[in-house]
Amino acid sequence: MDKYSHDVIVIGGGAAGLRAAIEAASKSPKLSVAIVSKVYPMRSHTVSAEGGAAAAIKPDDNFDLHAYDTIKGSDFLADQDAVELFVRLAPREIIRLEHWGCPWNRDQEGKIDVRWFGGMSVKRTIHAADKTGFYLLHTLFQTSLKYDNIVRYDEYFVTSIIVENNRFCGITALSLRDGAFHFLKGKAAIIATGGAGQIYKFTTNGAINTGDGMALAYRIGVPLKDMEFVQFHPTCLPGSGILISEAARGEGGYLLNNKYERFLKNYVPTKMELGPRDIISRAIVNEIRLGNGFKGKHGDYVALDLRHLGEEKIEEKLPQIRELAKTFVGIDPVNELIPVRPGQHYFMGGVHVDLNTSTPVAGLFAAGEASCVSINGANRLGSNSLPECLVFGAISGEHAAKFAIEHDYCNVAYENIQIEEKRIFDQLLKKESGIAPAEIKYKLKETMEEKVGILRNEKELLEACREVEKLKEMFKNVSAGDKTMIFNTDIVEILELDFMLDVAEAVAYSALYRKESRGAHYRTDYPERNDKEYLAHTLVYKTREKPQIDYLPVKITKWQPAERKY
Ligand SMILES: Cc1cc2nc3c(=O)[nH]c(=O)nc-3n(C[C@H](O)[C@H](O)[C@H](O)COP(=O)(O)OP(=O)(O)OC[C@H]3O[C@@H](n4cnc5c(N)ncnc54)[C@H](O)[C@@H]3O)c2cc1C
Repeated sequence: MDKYSHDVIVIGGGAAGLRAAIEAASKSPKLSVAIVSKVYPMRSHTVSAEGGAAAAIKPDDNFDLHAYDTIKGSDFLADQDAVELFVRLAPREIIRLEHWGCPWNRDQEGKIDVRWFGGMSVKRTIHAADKTGFYLLHTLFQTSLKYDNIVRYDEYFVTSIIVENNRFCGITALSLRDGAFHFLKGKAAIIATGGAGQIYKFTTNGAINTGDGMALAYRIGVPLKDMEFVQFHPTCLPGSGILISEAARGEGGYLLNNKYERFLKNYVPTKMELGPRDIISRAIVNEIRLGNGFKGKHGDYVALDLRHLGEEKIEEKLPQIRELAKTFVGIDPVNELIPVRPGQHYFMGGVHVDLNTSTPVAGLFAAGEASCVSINGANRLGSNSLPECLVFGAISGEHAAKFAIEHDYCNVAYENIQIEEKRIFDQLLKKESGIAPAEIKYKLKETMEEKVGILRNEKELLEACREVEKLKEMFKNVSAGDKTMIFNTDIVEILELDFMLDVAEAVAYSALYRKESRGAHYRTDYPERNDKEYLAHTLVYKTREKPQIDYLPVKITKWQPAERKY
């Protein structure tokens, strides 16, 4: 076992992780900052973000407007102090990215351009064509290279977080290149491991989004917050789940049923295609149930019509959408309809943190999609996640650096590290025969898709909780077909599946206990929002038995909860 020491350890090299590392490293050249990522940072899911990043930068916009849109979008579950902080800092981050070289689209005056996005009252989404994540991540990555005090551990898979007396001490990681097991000692750490879309069958998320950081925190006693709020994006390609960005509707695209009607007039009449994602996804499910969907080999779908935008606009503003439609469904949106249906897209919930991104464990912070501050409440507005990664990534970097300056390393009991090493090499890797991870994973994805999806009810949620428990039992007999040390993807799959089972458990139980409908959590048996009992965040704790659920009041500053109409 090798041992290394760093003042700040950032787990994850996506938007939140890179932004955090830059901030921490810039606080003092004496601080050693490590970025540990299971993939090369530029392969993080952030790279696939398409539509853009929201910030109030235009004269017709202001902080209160962005805050209220976000809070209303969240179905009043967002913490309003967090939202106010977020909207105030988002423009600064956008300009900073501009100075670091991000090629934002320009308007006719040469200023940063904005486009429409769902649930927003004004055009607010800053973008770089429809490949925003790619440009944003490149900008952060190249900026991180300027800091000599940032050390990268690329293709290192974090397997556990070591905590003693409620204080962060370090992490254990497998180097995927040679299978070596390492202990990285740290004064502070930031979990920036992104979402967990892979627990669903039909998702826009990359294969690496397995919720590792959420499970890592859950296992050391940190609660996960609002895990029942899972966002389904209305427009994904049937079959592959590839995302057709909301930018397509932001630029004027229509949704049509099989009668070629813009059916959203019956669901979100004032906003139509620019309604929030939770309502539009449910509208599509309803249209399909009413028999108003088109028939396809991957099931029923509705259509996204971009034809009226014309080739020039599609090429200028939505080139990637055109490319994706051509490559993956063989149609050209310039003159054909794109088939779409809702798919899992984003986790509003995550590791419970406060406004400083601190978890309840001293020295441990979390930011980005893995965390829950919460600004997204029960439903995130499109284009609020990238700026959230920037704003709270920077805050986490600042606070982790401060913590590292003020504290020393803690004394670690090395037996705890050896227990983890044995778990991986003796229990998981060496087992001669058993169940293939793919078998358990398939069942897990199917259960989550069918029973913890867009429409939920008590009976199916209970069944899902039991099924996840059964799969956890099966997991005890999981075995890796490949026993070698170099790039052993079998062991990675097993470790990820273990994390996915914990995350799925947290989602299913949180959903079971919330007996109301709010934002993305829709209970057919409790169709109304119930502020009297549930204007509160869910906290779920891991125990030896079934998960324990607790609630935390929502922070309201100046916007009282009201009926959410569009
Ligand atoms: C297709 C798609 C399009 C999107 N478009 C938009 C958009 O236009 N606007 C918007 O605001 N949001 C968008 N989103 C959401 C947004 O992109 C994500 O929420 C955000 O990029 C997450 O960034 P992150 O830094 O939190 O995590 P990620 O970018 O997912 O990075 C996670 C990092 O953690 C590392 N990691 C994970 N587990 C481990 C482990 N066990 N050990 C070591 N490292 C680990 C990974 O290697 C990776 O580097 C989109 C999402 C998708 C899927």
